[in-house]
Amino acid sequence: YRFSRRPEQGGKIRVSFEFFPPKTEEMERRLWETVERLAPLRPDFVSVTYGAGGSTRERTARTVRRILEETALTPAAHLTCVDADRESVDAVIRDFAAMGVRRFVALRGDPAEGVGAAYRPHPRGYANGAELVAALARQGDFDISVSAYPEKHPESPDFATDIEMLKRKVDNGATRAITQFFFDNDVYERYVERARRAGIYIPIVPGILPVHNFTQMQRFAGQCGAHVPAWLAERFQGLEHDAATHQLVAAAVAAEQVLDLIERGVEDFHFYTMNRADLAFAICHLIGIRPAVEQAGRQPAAA
Ligand code: FAD
Repeated sequence: YRFSRRPEQGGKIRVSFEFFPPKTEEMERRLWETVERLAPLRPDFVSVTYGAGGSTRERTARTVRRILEETALTPAAHLTCVDADRESVDAVIRDFAAMGVRRFVALRGDPAEGVGAAYRPHPRGYANGAELVAALARQGDFDISVSAYPEKHPESPDFATDIEMLKRKVDNGATRAITQFFFDNDVYERYVERARRAGIYIPIVPGILPVHNFTQMQRFAGQCGAHVPAWLAERFQGLEHDAATHQLVAAAVAAEQVLDLIERGVEDFHFYTMNRADLAFAICHLIGIRPAVEQAGRQPAAA
């Protein structure tokens, strides 16, 4: 199958949701409302990001622990190797494993100085995503996801170099790639084809970003090298102070993207939720993913 799983593995659409660890009590409350709303959709897993240079190490661990203890969800812990020596990264892996975590999203991370700063591997650290994957694979039988960049990573000089890094991550034990967000499905399709031609056969799951705030998204896209097409900007134009319409347009845009990907054969989706449930929930509804209780509780109509 070009994009994800083979047809004989079943034709069901699967989703995963990404959260970030909350900083304040208010954000914490919002995250748990989101988790409660999305949990009945029975995602394949939910992932929790890891802040630059391990800045959220404790908060990521706390969030993952709470998911393990208070929900039936399967958490995936993101982990980066930037600005850390191998011993401390290995210690984080051990802590997560002791907690019961079996899934990781392994990433290199970005320099703490921010956008534009040159990445320098820690002298005693894992140099990149591929080395981190190898470290995880050495330490346990983990399910390891990695990043993929349909528009290539900004530091990759060309697609060949970019795909070569993905190949190294797969060779070292990654079993799933999750893409950076994108808005042009043709770009994703071309990237998957390039990867397949390079002998990469793991699922390359599209990362879908429902646009909660267009202005903020545009800034973020600029930092991570994701292209914002003119047609998309045009759709959100003039909605800066009209939250309700912005929300409706965002749902329509994301639904259109996801439905088109399904037509192209995609069966797995990863949603960047920004810790908000509404758009992800609506899109899941549209693609037939409904709360478990609703389905289980469906009664035949009374005579
Ligand atoms: P790698 O896979 O190691 O490299 C990425 C690309 O950069 C490669 O394709 C390679 O071609 C190129 N490259 C790397 N090094 C060089 C070099 N020396 N010379 C030439 N080219 C090079 N960041 C966080 O801090 N926390 C998170 O939780 C987090 N989660 C993410 C989840 C997803 C799904 C994605 C897509 C990204 C996430 N990021 C996260 C962002 C990520 O850390 C950055 O994009 C970072 O810049 C690259 O990390 P990586 O693991 O993709 O790097």
